[in-house]
Order: sequence, then C-alpha cells, then structure tokens
Amino acid sequence: METAYFNGKLLPKDEIKISPDDRGFLFADGVYEVVRWYEGSFYDMNSHCIRLKRSLRELRINWADADLFPSVANDLIKYNKLEDQPAMVYLQVTRGAARRSHSFPSPEVPPTAYACAWGFVPDSRSKETGIKVMLKEDIRWSRCDIKSVALLPNTLSFQEASENGLKECIFVRNGLITEGSHSNIFFVIDGTLFTHPESDHVLSGITRKNVLRIAQESGIKIREEALQENRIRFIQEAFITNTSAEVIPVTELGGNTLGEGVRGPVTRLISDKFDAETRVLKG
Ligand code: PMP
Repeated sequence: METAYFNGKLLPKDEIKISPDDRGFLFADGVYEVVRWYEGSFYDMNSHCIRLKRSLRELRINWADADLFPSVANDLIKYNKLEDQPAMVYLQVTRGAARRSHSFPSPEVPPTAYACAWGFVPDSRSKETGIKVMLKEDIRWSRCDIKSVALLPNTLSFQEASENGLKECIFVRNGLITEGSHSNIFFVIDGTLFTHPESDHVLSGITRKNVLRIAQESGIKIREEALQENRIRFIQEAFITNTSAEVIPVTELGGNTLGEGVRGPVTRLISDKFDAETRVLKG
C-alpha cells in the first residue's frame, strides 16, 4: 500500500479525501514542487524549498509547514521503501476548500497539502543519444516563474509533441525561445552557452541553476540571453534540463538538425559533471 502525506499526516494513499470545493480542483489555485531522490539523498533540496516558498508567497498561500518539506520527503521515501532506487517526491499545496468564488476565502481556510513518492527507471538512452523536440508559440500566461499547478498549456503542448513522435515542446514568445513544457533549454553557439534569463517567462529551474554553476566552474562562457528563433541555424548544441531527466541533449529542434545531430562536447562535459555530483549523493 502506497503511503502519502496529507495535511500533516502520513496515510495510506487510498484513505486521502480531498473536498470537491478545493480551490486546486476548481481553479488550479495551488503550487507544486518536485524533488529527485538519488538512492541516499535528494539533489539540492534547499533550492527546491526556497522555490516552493517563493511560489507560495507569490500566490499569497500561507502554508505554515513549508519548512517540513525535507522531512516529509524523507518520510515518504522511507515508508514507501524507495531508499535504494531513483525516486521522485511530488508536493502540491492549494489555497484550500471553500464555496466557489473568485475572491480568496474569507476568513482564510487552511491550505490543502498533499505529497507522494514513486520510484522510476531513468531514461539513460535519451541522455546519450538525445531527443528531437518541437517548437511552438508560447500559449502560457505571463507568470511562468511561479510553479503553479495550472499546467494545461504545458500538457496540451507536450501531448502535441508526443503525438508527433517528439520528446518535448519548446516555446517561442515574441520570436524568442523561452523554455520547454517541463524543462529549461540551453544552446551552444561558438563555445558560448546560452539560456533564457530568469524572468516571468520561464521557470527558474533548479537543474538550470546548477548547470549554470557547473558551466561557470568549467570555464565555459555563459550568456543568460534569450535566443531568437531565427538564429536556430547557428546552434551547434542544445540540451534541456529538469529534475527528473537531468541533462538531455537535443539533436533536432522544430525540424532543424542541430550541429552533427548527436550529443556535443559541451553537453557531454556538463552532463558528466552533473552525474558526478549525483553519484556522491548515493549512500
Ligand atoms: N520549466 C518548466 C515549465 C518546468 O515545468 C520544469 C520542471 N519543473 C522546468 C523548467 C525545470 O525545472 P527543474 O530543473 O527545477 O525541474
């Protein structure tokens, strides 16, 4: 039986009941966070906690237990016997349950907090050989920096990519490449690493942050600058990043083969250094 966390308690997942009046259900009025377990430890839990608190603050959701997330995540790994395998922990916090109204509940109601964990098999093939991704107009709102559970534009776009045999959908806003439906994207042009700067139009990925640090430590020139869609032909390498998949080379973008169409040397260097950091976490 799977154990999950619900409003301060660990429970069998089947026993959790969430109100149909929950604002997460009615309005997608909530935030989430995802952390990866590396057989012994979580990768950069601290940054995930900081981002969680920021998302909550931006939506003005007062969840008093945000500091407990690391211990909740550890408990979920332990109770679900996931210690010895790669696993993910998902946390979602909504504004709580109240009669449907566009205004926030008054008086305030307790937030709803739910977390669960699952083991998975990492896609090592994509890490080596890379993926093909589609390009599409960014149909999302203007606060992509908030890790909100309102992900319909992301899921619709990812589904479209999947149905076309592609592994991610990369968004373009006003002619500039922003990020993927569930990843950040990096480009290498003439040895310089480009990625969209932190802004309202991208999520500040934890993997993005660590990849930038690794690149800097490796002496790679970095420009946090959005790439124009019309400069795709100059790209020699690209890769996407996220918590579950880490660093995945992109060999084709919107039908254009990038560089030699294989994982490039800068991507390999960063990916190898990222792997070295995660190996240290394994108990
Ligand atoms: N952008 C979006 C839209 C995402 O959903 C994700 C995955 N959470 C990312 C970027 C990558 O963030 P992280 O590296 O923190 O997983």
